[in-house]
Amino acid sequence: MQSSFRIELHNLTKSYQEGTDRLAVLQGLNWVVEPCQIAVLLGVSGSGKSTLLNLIAGLDAPDQGHVVFKGDEQCVNWNQLTDRERTSFRLQHIGVIYQFFNLIPTLTLWENILLPLDLAAAPAERVERASWLLQEVGLAGKADSLPQAVSGGEQQRAAMVRALANEPSLILADEPTGNLDQANSQNVIDILVKLCRANGATLLIATHAQELTSKADSVMHLANGKLHSLGSHET
Ligand code: ADP
Ligand code: MG
Repeated sequence: MQSSFRIELHNLTKSYQEGTDRLAVLQGLNWVVEPCQIAVLLGVSGSGKSTLLNLIAGLDAPDQGHVVFKGDEQCVNWNQLTDRERTSFRLQHIGVIYQFFNLIPTLTLWENILLPLDLAAAPAERVERASWLLQEVGLAGKADSLPQAVSGGEQQRAAMVRALANEPSLILADEPTGNLDQANSQNVIDILVKLCRANGATLLIATHAQELTSKADSVMHLANGKLHSLGSHET
């Protein structure tokens, strides 16, 4: 397991231009997610969850405020990194899971999983880990299938393996069950929580689904551009 980070959001503000108006999506958010926590960001569609996750992933920049990753040896503020440094930090420390799985349709599940690993160091070790993860999520027999030949739940489990194979210290899951039926949703969340707990990774799930909050250490509700606490560990 790599170093774990405390994630701090300070006065995070983001708006989009809409014609002649500005749409204020995030209005001065403050939040701390402690290392190894399972946190849920709850909000209706359009409340700004994906916007916030993209800021935390360093894929977009806030209008104001900053995101800080505080570790024992490292303190990283996205605003202070170059594009190249951002990409490198993200590849090393962050895994992302999306609602629509984002698997490349012409590659097998196994090739999809290996894709980001090729960009990282120590491939042999990571290939071994990917192979172990594939067994853990019950996909060992489907490694050579194309995404279209397996179910949505299986595609999402493959996407999970891809995100976790690097042993990231932070997993960002954006509506990971948004495209799955109830049984597959529960299965995907159970596996995700189990693997993050086992690995001491921080898991941040953005969702509109109230039922996903039962496994969380902390729950924050995003509404009208502000965060409201619904759980116990946040500030
Ligand atoms: P959620 O993920 O909670 O559904 P989003 O973060 O996707 O919410 O969107 C929040 C609001 O910001 C929505 O009103 C959406 O239309 C708007 N929005 C998101 N991304 C953009 C963009 N790139 N340009 C303009 N408006 C955007
Ligand atoms: Mg979204």
